[in-house]
Amino acid sequence: KSSDRADATAVLLRLRDMGHIAYFAGGCVRDLLLGREPKDWDIATDAPPARVREIFPRTQAVGAAFGVILVRQGKSQVEVATFRTDGRYIDGRHPQGVTFSNPEEDAKRRDFTINGLFLDPVNDLVIDYVGGQADLAAKVIRAIGDPRHRFDEDYLRMLRAVRFAARLNFEIEPATATAIQVHSALLTRISPERIADELRVMLAPPTRVAAWRLMHVLGLLTPIFRFVEVPAGEPDDDRTIDRLFEKLPAEPLPFSLVIATAAAQWLWWASPAGSDIRRSFEKPVIAMLVGAVRKSLKLSNDECDSAGQTLEGLHPLLADDPPTVAILKRFLARPTAGLSRTLLAALNEANLIDESRYSMLQQSLAEMERTDFAPQPFITGDDLTATGMRPGPVFRQILDAAYDAQLEGRLASRDEALRLAKELERTAVVLPR
Ligand code: ATP
Ligand code: MG
Repeated sequence: KSSDRADATAVLLRLRDMGHIAYFAGGCVRDLLLGREPKDWDIATDAPPARVREIFPRTQAVGAAFGVILVRQGKSQVEVATFRTDGRYIDGRHPQGVTFSNPEEDAKRRDFTINGLFLDPVNDLVIDYVGGQADLAAKVIRAIGDPRHRFDEDYLRMLRAVRFAARLNFEIEPATATAIQVHSALLTRISPERIADELRVMLAPPTRVAAWRLMHVLGLLTPIFRFVEVPAGEPDDDRTIDRLFEKLPAEPLPFSLVIATAAAQWLWWASPAGSDIRRSFEKPVIAMLVGAVRKSLKLSNDECDSAGQTLEGLHPLLADDPPTVAILKRFLARPTAGLSRTLLAALNEANLIDESRYSMLQQSLAEMERTDFAPQPFITGDDLTATGMRPGPVFRQILDAAYDAQLEGRLASRDEALRLAKELERTAVVLPR
């Protein structure tokens, strides 16, 4: 669905010519008054859906039960909705039914005052039943009516409040914010997919940091990450929750990585003081974390696997011992190396890792990049079986050790690699990795 102003205006004027009331409604009026380019131009009218379908030849009943008709006009699909009153909400998300009504009732069923405005473009008149203009001027997100009741009806509105506050840089009005805090736990009743959809939008730049902070303040992180186990105890004030998040680059990053990083940082923040953030990147820790995030938001395995690889890829670089040449080269050869380095830079910017370690790493990685850091291994499993070695648990370790030796320049040829492999098998000494 998308619409532009000219097409939507044509639809609106046609409704008027046919004797109906027709206004621009909701988001487009808000954006227009803020001087922002509206995404969609939605129309509200007193014409019932059947009448709208009569008037326009090309229509599609998208939300028949709610009286929403899409009208094709030019290249646009314009949403035309009949003024309505929503019935009782049954499941924290959907009204049981709707009754067609009048503009005032229609304004009052909407979520926030700034979203409850109408515009009559013919007379250039804003129609405001809910105090939306004052709140636009005051930069305030305020629920229409009793906030507790409005969030009781539809839990998703809690995330919408955060989305608009972050996007517009508005404050959430105190009673509205308190109602969200009170209802925060009910967010678990919204489907993870819906929540993930909202988060994908909010956690993209440029609203990433503001949205994250608000969700934290409003207590929404616990229900969002419903399967992530947060350690009990008082968090350390010193570790502000958004330190790392703030330093992520203002460029799109894979959502699963953003969300897993967020969860990792949140966990660290919530863990007892004195724990080392580097531990957050250990393989089993990441596996558990990414698994819990995946389950919380019902993300796909594919989407999450690379987030896990990006995060755990950092671990060998951050361990106490400085990384060997083999570790650095293996790191660079990972498909997720670029993203891991982005994260590494953010960790450094946020002062979460040692600065001298960071500059040493940057320098070594740059040096390694100039070399052939991912050469073909001199030997493979086939070479080992050909020498009569039997595949077993040490097989992989021997190959790894031989490849490490190759990466570090301790081996110059396939013959030398085979000799090392034999030696390792005979002595059964396997190098620790
Ligand atoms: P955006 O620019 O993100 O599209 P929008 O305000 O247009 O913002 P939509 O989700 O497109 O948001 O919804 C259009 C309008 O419908 C809103 O402005 C609001 O008036 C109303 N609305 C949408 N979702 C809800 C909801 N969950 N509860 C109440 N009113 C809603
Ligand atoms: Mg919209």
